[in-house]
Amino acid sequence: MSRKNITALDVALEELRHTANLMGLDQEIVRYLKNPHCTFTVDIPVRMDDGELRFFTGYRVQHNSALGPCKGGTRFHPDETLDDVKALAFWMTVKNSLAGLRAGGGKGGIVVDPLKLSQRELEQLSRGYIRALFRILGPQMDIPGPDVGTPPQVMAWFTDEYELLAQKRIPAAIAGKPPALGGSLGRSKATSAGLVYSLLELLRLKNDALPGKRVCIQGFGNVGGNAARILAEHGAVIVGLCDVSGGVYAPEGIDVKAALAHVTKNGVIKGLSGYEAINAEAIFGLPCDILVPAALQNQIHEDNATEIQASIVVEGANGPSTPAAESILLKKGCLVLPDIAANAGGTVVSYFEMVQNLYGFDWTEEEVLARLEDVMSRTCRTVYILAMEKNITLRSAAWIVAIGRVAETMRMRGWVRTTPPAA
Ligand code: NAD
Repeated sequence: MSRKNITALDVALEELRHTANLMGLDQEIVRYLKNPHCTFTVDIPVRMDDGELRFFTGYRVQHNSALGPCKGGTRFHPDETLDDVKALAFWMTVKNSLAGLRAGGGKGGIVVDPLKLSQRELEQLSRGYIRALFRILGPQMDIPGPDVGTPPQVMAWFTDEYELLAQKRIPAAIAGKPPALGGSLGRSKATSAGLVYSLLELLRLKNDALPGKRVCIQGFGNVGGNAARILAEHGAVIVGLCDVSGGVYAPEGIDVKAALAHVTKNGVIKGLSGYEAINAEAIFGLPCDILVPAALQNQIHEDNATEIQASIVVEGANGPSTPAAESILLKKGCLVLPDIAANAGGTVVSYFEMVQNLYGFDWTEEEVLARLEDVMSRTCRTVYILAMEKNITLRSAAWIVAIGRVAETMRMRGWVRTTPPAA
């Protein structure tokens, strides 16, 4: 299938097919995982500032709840499709399982460009989404959190609307809230901190280290921006950065704090002075040791994978590399630390947030990050050791661990009648 029409769902189902073959997984389990448990499509009315009544399409997909309540982010994006939400919900089932969380996979989204709405319109839309889905959400059923286009303010409106409808305080119903509403300290940087903990563990396992490594990052939002800052704090040299507007290259290193300040002021990287300006797509051809795709899915494909010079790709985004691209990278000797292992920090800290909300704890940021480091390093180690033992890719190893746990739980629950595959 050409990259022009490959979707995130095609990629997710291909990953399932490949894992099922490697594990000799029973077809009943494959059939359960191929399709989500439930799919909800809602029309959300919003009275716009100019008086017009507009309807926005929203989705929530509950993929699998064998391990626990569904849990996953909410994406506000103009190109959002139901198939993309299904793929992202599936990846949440796999990611939550791999991280050892008692949570299943869910994901949601609204087809909207949030930058084109006023704050009042965005608030109405966010509250309307929760009103439309209220009955299927809750700490024991399905817990939405943030994703692309949904900053903590949106989670605050989600929480307030949910609690108004429930007529009680249930902060555990929504993840990624601001700390004032019960959000966990460390949540905003959790995905990036987790990515760095995984990378540090991978380098340790390879008897290597981060200081001095040249890093390029695609995407300079929550994940890419925080990853750049934390990687630089650990001694990496950030030589290339880009967002949707374009990027910059500097072999001697970019001042990440100045780049973040520029984006805070101007909204985009374009116009950051003092460095060579590049097109966003050029990020993949730059000389570097480590590449972090942290934008959207299917960004690394068969047409640009050959240009990549990095020896390690750490997937910050969900599904950033197509299977064809990964084959090209692997043939070149490049190690790919897959999304489900590398970017699980956000869901792990969202889970910590739920635990704190349910028990009335307030952990310090140091406590949160120490627990996160433990989960991320342990996961990376488990995946790396299995990959070495079986001579398979890190992605295959990660999927085998994750699907194995979900499959075992489904068997124990009696959802499928099969004997476990041979070890
Ligand atoms: P964000 O909206 O904060 O940032 C996205 C960035 O990608 C922006 O800088 C944007 O300009 C850039 N971008 C978009 N299209 C691009 C393109 N074609 N070329 C270059 N840059 C482009 O989103 P985020 O929260 O940082 O999420 C990024 C990715 O990480 C997504 O795939 C998301 O699903 C995944 N992710 C996010 C979290 C989280 O906690 N935020 C957790 C796990 C995974």
